[in-house]
Amino acid sequence: MTADDADSIIFTDLSKFMKKSEVPPYPLVGIVGQQVMKKALLLTTTNPFIGNMIIIGEAGTGKSTAARGLRGILPEMEAVTGCFYNCDPKDKSKLCQDCQSTVSELHVFTRRLPLVELPLGASGNRVFGGFDSQSMLRPGYVGRANRGFLLISRVNLLDPDILNRILDISATGIHRSQSEHGDFTHPAKFNIIATMNPEDGEIDAEIMERFSMAVKVQSIKDIEERIEIVRRVEAYRQDPVGFVNRNRREMEAFSERLKRARDIVKRVDIPKKVLTTMDKVLKQVGQDNDRVRTALAEAAQANAAFGDRVWVTVEDVAEIAELVLGHRAK
Ligand SMILES: [Zn+2]
Repeated sequence: MTADDADSIIFTDLSKFMKKSEVPPYPLVGIVGQQVMKKALLLTTTNPFIGNMIIIGEAGTGKSTAARGLRGILPEMEAVTGCFYNCDPKDKSKLCQDCQSTVSELHVFTRRLPLVELPLGASGNRVFGGFDSQSMLRPGYVGRANRGFLLISRVNLLDPDILNRILDISATGIHRSQSEHGDFTHPAKFNIIATMNPEDGEIDAEIMERFSMAVKVQSIKDIEERIEIVRRVEAYRQDPVGFVNRNRREMEAFSERLKRARDIVKRVDIPKKVLTTMDKVLKQVGQDNDRVRTALAEAAQANAAFGDRVWVTVEDVAEIAELVLGHRAK
């Protein structure tokens, strides 16, 4: 097996198989173990204000498979029909130029939140979009991911300049491009879900700091669980649609739960006592700054909302602290 194949020992065959045909992704709920990784993906979906996340782990841990599996449970949203950027018909201030020019006749349809995967080795032109030889604007992946998620597998193989630019766009929610062929601007509010295998190489500490949450995953050692993984992956390979359908009820339950959590997360209150605890924790680990404080608060609020509560407890903070603080330089 070459390094290129090696997203995971177990899941490698799966991803090759998936490229060949249009099959539904392996569902997140079908992943054995890896509770922290699954939780982080659910929190990011619950509260986009947390920011970007990265999953770090060796081959065999199903990092990208888990992220892709989120597709099957992402809640639905309304979007403008035919708009490449999934414009929100209810938010006229954030429409793309095309939607602005036809604002009186926008048609609306319902779709899941987008989760767009950046292909390995994509050029800057494909990532950011640009004008083709006929001067037609070809939007890029950062546009398609608007209002959803951009999955970057093996992020440490991506050109750091491209990655930094994607991170900048994600932070502002707007993509402005200027070139000799012409200028364009469009909404690009998305969260990055990145994966990396440390064997592929290092990632700059400064780039790592730009991820609000990081999950470190280990391959599963328990023999019973390993057998269960092989059994499920085999069942999926034999009949992907059937496998997904057998998980359908659980997927719909998660989707509903995510929808409710997203609805209530803006109302989640952090009591003073909990804020004091958060301050203590941040001081202890030498991360007493606004960026980290915000990430910690947003993740704790997401955890509360996912637990169907509108108040944060100290336990929420304890549950998410490692995700927010574990990867930061001391
Ligand atoms: Zn639009």
